[in-house]
Parts: sequence; C-alpha cells; structure tokens
Amino acid sequence: MAADAIDRGRRGFLRGCAASTPAPIHPPWSRPAFFTSLCTRCGACADACPETILRPGDGGYPEVDFARGECSFCGACADACAEPVFDRTAAPWSLRPVVAPSCLAVQRVVCRSCRDACPESAIAFRPAAGGAAHARIDDDACTGCGACVAACPVGAVTLNRQPGTARHAT
Ligand code: SF4
Ligand code: SF4
Ligand code: SF4
Repeated sequence: MAADAIDRGRRGFLRGCAASTPAPIHPPWSRPAFFTSLCTRCGACADACPETILRPGDGGYPEVDFARGECSFCGACADACAEPVFDRTAAPWSLRPVVAPSCLAVQRVVCRSCRDACPESAIAFRPAAGGAAHARIDDDACTGCGACVAACPVGAVTLNRQPGTARHAT
C-alpha cells in the first residue's frame, strides 16, 4: 500500500474523533436522495436480513445497526423490497470506519480486535508518536461492512459516509 494511502487511511480512521452524531445509515444500495420518499416503512428488508442488522430508525425508516453485526452484502434486503428504493447497479455505499479517542490503542493499551475482525484485512497498526499504535485503514480494501464496529470493546468505531472514496457510491 502506498504511503499516501496509509496516511489517508489514518486520517480517515481518526477523522471522527470530534464528529457530531452521524446521519442514519440506510440499507446498502438504497438511494439516499430518494429514500424517505420511496420507502413505505413496510419492514420487508429488515425481515429479510439474515444478519438482523436492520431495524426501524427515525420515523420508522430502516437503519443499519452495526452493533448487531456486519453486512455481508447478500442483497436480501434489496430483493425483498417492492418499491424502487434500491439501485443494485450502483455500489452499496461509501462507508468507512472512524475511531473515537477512546480507542484503547490510542490510549496505549494493546488491542487489535477491530483488525482481527476485519474480513478484508483492511486494518493495520503502525507505531505513532508517544508509543501508541494507531490503526490505519486501507481505503481500497475496506468495503464498509462494519465488522470492526461490534468487535471494538469500547465502542470506539463508527462508520461514516466518505464522499471522496471512488469505489463505493453513496
Ligand atoms: S445486504 Fe444482506 S446483510 Fe446487508 S443489510 Fe442487506 S440483507 Fe442485511
Ligand atoms: S468496515 Fe469492514 S472491511 Fe472496513 S475496516 Fe471495518 S471490518 Fe474491515
Ligand atoms: S477494537 Fe476498538 S479499542 Fe481496539 S484498537 Fe480497534 S478501535 Fe481501538
């Protein structure tokens, strides 16, 4: 991986430290611009999700809860929807992990749970100033599946939309 990619990944992973509450994450392939106007809140997508990560959120619209697990990108949610909410010709989303200062590694406590949970081997740790080890994300390898979220023992990882990433559309 190129050095600039590593740096971008580190900045991205740490970018969420001071972020405000993120916008709701709707199911993969759903179209954010039209979501609330097209979704009837029937719940069919949530019922179809084998990972049970979809639940009713604000206004009853389905949201992804990565505390429950990761998205396998099986497509069952999109297949179950009777409305034109999903666009399977596009990338599922542009989510990338960000970490809060409560990260144990940032606090110089040994922890690699997020790295170990990542199915894409997209997380690596590099020494940082002061003896801490900081996580770096490989933006090209990361799919935004969310497996790192539930794996974190202190709830330090969240997924945010990253408009700048090229492979995964919002
Ligand atoms: S793609 Fe599959 S695992 Fe992901 S939210 Fe949809 S049904 Fe659930
Ligand atoms: S979102 Fe998924 S692919 Fe990306 S770093 Fe986390 S576990 Fe790995
Ligand atoms: S699992 Fe959480 S606490 Fe552990 S290194 Fe990853 S972000 Fe930090």
